[in-house]
Amino acid sequence: MDPKVHRIGVLTSGGDAPGMNAAIRAVVRTACHYGIECVGIERGYNGLISGDMKPMTARDVSGITGLGGTILYTARCPEFQTPEGLKRAADSCRFMGIDGLVAIGGDGTFRGAGELSEYGISVVGIPGTIDNDIACTGYTIGFDTACNTAIDCIDKLDDTMRSHERCSVVEVMGHRSGHLALSVGIAVGATAVLIPEKSIDYDKDLILPIREGRLRGRSSFTVIVAEGAASGHDIAEIVADKTGIDTRVTVLGHVQRGGRPASRDRIIATRMGYEAVKVLVEGGTNKIICFDGCNYSTVDIDEALKMQKGIEEDTYAILEVIHSFK
Ligand code: ATP
Repeated sequence: MDPKVHRIGVLTSGGDAPGMNAAIRAVVRTACHYGIECVGIERGYNGLISGDMKPMTARDVSGITGLGGTILYTARCPEFQTPEGLKRAADSCRFMGIDGLVAIGGDGTFRGAGELSEYGISVVGIPGTIDNDIACTGYTIGFDTACNTAIDCIDKLDDTMRSHERCSVVEVMGHRSGHLALSVGIAVGATAVLIPEKSIDYDKDLILPIREGRLRGRSSFTVIVAEGAASGHDIAEIVADKTGIDTRVTVLGHVQRGGRPASRDRIIATRMGYEAVKVLVEGGTNKIICFDGCNYSTVDIDEALKMQKGIEEDTYAILEVIHSFK
């Protein structure tokens, strides 16, 4: 088969996510398989503008599948969002002979890739963010590892909260999205989960489940708050004021972004990297690789960016049925 691209660039952009390295490795090695050269671009779109990029061989990506973070570094690049910055990046691609690009990141990264494609560069996006908030795909690389990290921390907190009969308020990542908070909340059996997608009635959603739990004989509680829903400190204050329970707050912060990627992230990232190169080899462009839990597919970037991802109501309902049972 005659590949439709001859030199592929690969970059990671936006927030880092465990599993990005496995995707980079798969892109480089799949490209090598097709006899296509691969160039690693550093610090997202900054590297395209500044020329911080280097050819990568199969050997250069040896042993990185299990490493958290991204060996290519990642960054935001406001300059790329200006016409001048975009043109400099496109000129840089032409100068380096890059005619295909695999961009690993979130919605902003895909928007940027779409803009670059207007300069004649074939682009494919791979969803990589711990938030799992990209509408066109059921899964984004990093989500499982971030869930496991948060669960591990909360299980530890639970031991001490139980011993002291306290309420633990844990703030998890998620500015606009509560997928991480909801999944973690279900996994740890939280008393309440507060997410940005749902307006919060403090009495009904927070205090009532704690009071009911207490009446059933429970003496320690876990409340999960997505950072975009409320501040963990404010929620802890409300709980302490309204229930009199000794309450402690933990903001998990960036620890959720780190760690060795879980098996799910390594495997899905590897497959997505492989699929991305195949799309470019076959002459495709402006696509995002998606995974619905069973099958891999592609969606046009323009179409994907118009989609909205909400919370599954059934998943949310589980909290009321199982966690706050009457
Ligand atoms: P995360 O989910 O981790 O936030 P993201 O990819 O959505 O990831 P952003 O900061 O939104 O993160 O975008 C990453 C980069 O993509 C930006 O710094 C910028 O370089 C580029 N980008 C974002 N939006 C656009 C746009 N409208 N046009 C061109 N480039 C863009």
